[in-house]
Amino acid sequence: MNEHLDPTTNRYNSEEFDLEKKLRPLSFDDFAGQDHVLENLKIFVAAANQRNEALDHTLFHGPPGLGKTTLANILANELEVGIKITSGPVLDKPGDLAGLLTNLEERDVLFIDEIHRLSPIVEEYLYSAMEDFKIDIMIESGPNARTVQINLNPFTLIGATTRSGLLTSPMRARFGISSRLQYYSTELLATIIERSAVILKVPIQINAAIEIARRSRGTPRIANALLRRVRDFAQIKGNGTIDLEIAQYGLNALNVDANGLDEMDNKILTAIISKFKGGPVGISTLATAVSESAETIEEVYEPFLIQEGFLMRTPRGREVTEKTYKHLGKVNPNLQGG
Ligand code: ADP
Repeated sequence: MNEHLDPTTNRYNSEEFDLEKKLRPLSFDDFAGQDHVLENLKIFVAAANQRNEALDHTLFHGPPGLGKTTLANILANELEVGIKITSGPVLDKPGDLAGLLTNLEERDVLFIDEIHRLSPIVEEYLYSAMEDFKIDIMIESGPNARTVQINLNPFTLIGATTRSGLLTSPMRARFGISSRLQYYSTELLATIIERSAVILKVPIQINAAIEIARRSRGTPRIANALLRRVRDFAQIKGNGTIDLEIAQYGLNALNVDANGLDEMDNKILTAIISKFKGGPVGISTLATAVSESAETIEEVYEPFLIQEGFLMRTPRGREVTEKTYKHLGKVNPNLQGG
């Protein structure tokens, strides 16, 4: 995969991570898009604040880089409470979780990223914490071992997952609020890029922001990463300002697809054309053809390809569109005979 288009790269590389943090919106007002999700969250937060209660447990699901972590932080800010951040694979044993839970102050937020990757035993331990704000703790060991129940401060668990299909139903049922984040339009990404450019103190022309946005796969994290790279080109190859010419030059030098599609997107589309005559093809057959799981195709790749008009979901399977043939520089054989 082209690393510039991978919304999961650079996440934990420290310099990029710091930059990403700097660009992260801190309040509802700074957060662009996802209007429907935001409207509801604002009401739930205002109501919880008025009652001085913890916000209901909240689940964010959707592809990587769309703002789940950002929203968790914003919720904590808007609730004026602290936030503790962890992730599913890090929480090995119930003891790790107990340590975090007992340190939460009243109404605090506990954010668990990749919550679908909790081990079953940790997940089960979380249930009573979420439901009754109580946990059992094992004290002593050997023959004297016994468990005591302790009360926790009421808190809000915010879970994030890219794979909501992998969440167990008891887990899902414990979230009072559940929101799916959508890919962003080019216009919205362009406003996000302009805001980031102000923070990075780099002048950018609007048509350049739109060009970067168009090639960011509907994803703010990718948009910000491409902006930072194009800034380097503007500095070294240009006069410091990001205009359309330098943006195109930089994006082409980085091998970024003209439509922002990544390698797997193109692999899926190419497979449908070359192996299945453009479709329709069933999801599991397609998954085998591109060596990816059907769930990942359905949850991560397909929504963007459908939104952008490269793919159609029909009762008989997935089909590519005329736009796909054009994008890949191929001729639609079904039209030729026509
Ligand atoms: P996720 O947790 O869904 O993978 P993040 O919340 O980490 O995604 O978002 C990735 C980056 O994209 C953040 O650093 C932030 O700067 C930016 N971002 C995400 N959503 C928005 C938004 N709606 N407005 C502005 N910037 C955003």
